[in-house]
Amino acid sequence: MRPFPAGKVELDRCTFCSGLWFDGGELEALLGKKLPAKLDPDVVTSRKCPADSISMQAAEVAGLRVEFCTKCFGVFLDDGELVALNGGKPVRVPAGQQVAARPEAKVKDDVMDWLDRLGA
Ligand SMILES: [Zn+2]
Repeated sequence: MRPFPAGKVELDRCTFCSGLWFDGGELEALLGKKLPAKLDPDVVTSRKCPADSISMQAAEVAGLRVEFCTKCFGVFLDDGELVALNGGKPVRVPAGQQVAARPEAKVKDDVMDWLDRLGA
């Protein structure tokens, strides 16, 4: 995983599977809409929460199967699921947001390139 600033949130991307990790609330902040997760309490996934190292549980968000941490409410999305959650559209980072210590234009380009590679 490496931190990846995108707008208000800092995303973590798994360099092996291209999955995306969202800390609790980050996904909703990025997409700007409420995404209630429906837990499937009987299914424990093989993935461990990168923050808590506990096994994540299967959950359903907007009809997609995702992995959910019941401790920190983090969500793990597979490659492409972020775009699916955004109605099939590429996720655009709102303009005018800055990340400290990096030139804004550079950060924005990085984010755009990266999000475009997610299947947009
Ligand atoms: Zn967690």
